[in-house]
Amino acid sequence: MTTTLSVNSPAIDNSHLKALNQLDIPARLLLGPGPSNADPAVLAAMDRQPIGHLDKAYLALMDEVQELMRYAWQTDNHLTLPVSGTGSAAMEATLANTIEPNDKVLVCVNGYFGHRLVDMATRYGAEVSTLHRPWGEVFTTAEIRTALATHRPAVMAMVHAETSTGVCQPMAGIGDLCREYDCLLILDTVTSLGGVPLFLDQWGVDLAYSCSQKGLSCPPGSSPFTMSDRALAKLNNRKSNVANWYLDMSLLSNYWGKGRTYHHTAPVNMTYAIREALRLLAEEGLAARWQRHQNAAERLYAGLEDMGLECHVPREYRLHTLTTVRIPDGVDGKAVTNQLIDQHNMEIGGGLGDLAGKVWRVGLMGYNATPENVDKCLAALKQVLADLG
Ligand SMILES: *Cc1c(COP(=O)(O)O)cnc(C)c1O
Repeated sequence: MTTTLSVNSPAIDNSHLKALNQLDIPARLLLGPGPSNADPAVLAAMDRQPIGHLDKAYLALMDEVQELMRYAWQTDNHLTLPVSGTGSAAMEATLANTIEPNDKVLVCVNGYFGHRLVDMATRYGAEVSTLHRPWGEVFTTAEIRTALATHRPAVMAMVHAETSTGVCQPMAGIGDLCREYDCLLILDTVTSLGGVPLFLDQWGVDLAYSCSQKGLSCPPGSSPFTMSDRALAKLNNRKSNVANWYLDMSLLSNYWGKGRTYHHTAPVNMTYAIREALRLLAEEGLAARWQRHQNAAERLYAGLEDMGLECHVPREYRLHTLTTVRIPDGVDGKAVTNQLIDQHNMEIGGGLGDLAGKVWRVGLMGYNATPENVDKCLAALKQVLADLG
């Protein structure tokens, strides 16, 4: 016997839902690994009606976003577009579009996001080999050369700015090595775009991805992606379809390129947002933006040193957008981050993976990279540490 639900059935009673209050979001200062606070101008840009994603006004916006992204990355790659989704979606797009089953892929792993690249590449059927470094160290070109010579991969992937460790990988010579060994270079620039120097074409990077919610001061949901002609040639020569329909650049490039054919509905308001975020970056200028992040980071290092706190990464490899601070012996790191939220409305991150319980992660990204925020962070940390004895 089937039961018929009447319109007044208690099974669909929603009185508790009707009683919900309107949205109430606490005002946090986000000085962790991300998301970072959005620039108010970016939030204002989102606060418009959507227009059709094939509207000529929208198509014009798309062109501007692509041009702004090429500037931000210092690349001439034609295929440069925002992926609908967070940084991990754009990360997955770089792997999905380059890997055919049984391709050899080499991943350089010195932190959490290297492991994520391994996991994703494996799911696309790659034969994955890894080059490891302890969390907080960088790779040398000599060891990369040896790994390339040993494994002969079709693709090598590495992280420029490891948000889990606070390390910035020096890139000189790596792209040349990848060309010498005829492999494509994928670079994770999620925590470097809009914060620290990036020269994709000069470095010989073939594919890169980023996100909107870190150095670009935009909410999460629209993620820069780019691929070179070399990478495009591999895509065009595939025997099998890209194993991910949503992220297939052979389809997406028709919407973002000349064809303008429908693929999926663009997150229109996120395009407004990222356009404004990138416009603000161009208005400030890359050099000024990078300098502002360096100044904020150096102010933080000096303040931490005054408090007797140590950074996890040697100075020459520190990432200006994210600093890992060693938790002193006897201090409960989690109690500190909890109290920062409860008493100061301030978020800083804890450690991940090999650094869990060992470091705090302080992010100074985009809109948040100011001397005022550094001073607020140092003062709050000082007070909380004194409080907890
Ligand atoms: C944040 C981050 C990602 C993942 O981006 P999501 O937007 O969280 O999906 C990937 N790589 C690095 C280095 C990151 O910091």
